[in-house]
Amino acid sequence: MNTNRLDMYSEEQPKGFDYIGFKLGDGSVANLLMDNIGHGVVFVNNDGVLTSINRYAAVLLQVQKDAVIGKRVDMLPLRTPIYRVLSEQRSGVPMTIAIGERVVAVQVTDVFSDDGNTSGEMTELWDVTEEKRSKRQWEEFVSMMTHDLRSPLTVIMGYIQGMQCGMFGELNSRLSTVIEKAEESGKALNAMIEEMLDHVRLEAGLLNLNRQNCDIGKLLEACYRDNLRAAQGQEVKLELTPPGKLPELHVDSRQLKRVFNNLIGNAIKYTPARGEVTIQVAGDEGALRVVVADSGIGIPPEDLSRIFIKYFRCSGASGFKGTGLGLSISKIIVEAHGGSIAVESLLGQGSRFTVSIPFSSPEDSDPASC
Ligand code: ADP
Repeated sequence: MNTNRLDMYSEEQPKGFDYIGFKLGDGSVANLLMDNIGHGVVFVNNDGVLTSINRYAAVLLQVQKDAVIGKRVDMLPLRTPIYRVLSEQRSGVPMTIAIGERVVAVQVTDVFSDDGNTSGEMTELWDVTEEKRSKRQWEEFVSMMTHDLRSPLTVIMGYIQGMQCGMFGELNSRLSTVIEKAEESGKALNAMIEEMLDHVRLEAGLLNLNRQNCDIGKLLEACYRDNLRAAQGQEVKLELTPPGKLPELHVDSRQLKRVFNNLIGNAIKYTPARGEVTIQVAGDEGALRVVVADSGIGIPPEDLSRIFIKYFRCSGASGFKGTGLGLSISKIIVEAHGGSIAVESLLGQGSRFTVSIPFSSPEDSDPASC
């Protein structure tokens, strides 16, 4: 804090200022404090008169304080940033607005006096230009990475498929086996790249749910089919209990499929031969509940609270392929739907993951988010 400036202002303290000095609009410590706040503050009283504006807000709104203090908001020149901000914002609804090169976040709150009546509105402003810029740069970086990592792999997979189709001549059985293994590894690499990129995207807050009405029974059947080959390959019995009639969910089916495929894939992966994995679905208490249970290696009790943390893998998982990202991604997706994901497990006996998704989430009432 600059004490010299405080001294200077102390001479101007009006008599009778209160303990904090907050008498908005007076030329006192209140103004000094207001001018040193790290964001903009504008106060408009019940008569629509702008009675106080701090330095930060004046800079953001491109005005001289003296030129606007004491003016009615509806008398300010139209199409100026200050008129737009003060006349267009609604109390309690945060918004961002472009002012020249800057992006400004705006929040309006009612101000109450001691007797409980409103005495006006306080508009707060934050310069979020840098945040927006770095978010955009991050988005560009992620989409560049996505492209650069995926493209060569797509070419490799294309050649593999070409060879399998006999485009480059007949394959003997030895070569077929080698190519099959190359295809498997390519698919695994692709899944890993997708998983890592998804995580980066989700962490950067770039998960935009594309909600549509979804028949969850059909979605689970598709997940069942996706995992059947892996289950058979590992001699694990995979069972889907056909769900009864369920209401349609308003969800991002691509993202939810990712969640269920991850849970089913994990259940198969961590279950030794001759074990079993079951998928059950029920709708109760306003939520859909999908349970993926297995008779696999189980999770140590001390790890149960940590398995949703990114990159965390139990010591028992060291012999199995994985990134430790699947469950953390699943949690982010389920929570974005207003749901939750829970786990119960007994070491050496198996695990049970329950995903609950409300039939109607708060976002459903907001058409803008659909
Ligand atoms: P990974 O790619 O390692 O499977 P996940 O994020 O999907 O990553 O899971 C995190 C960890 O949780 C796994 O490494 C494993 O230790 C444990 N885990 C997840 N699902 C199961 C399961 N069905 N049975 C036993 N352990 C599991």
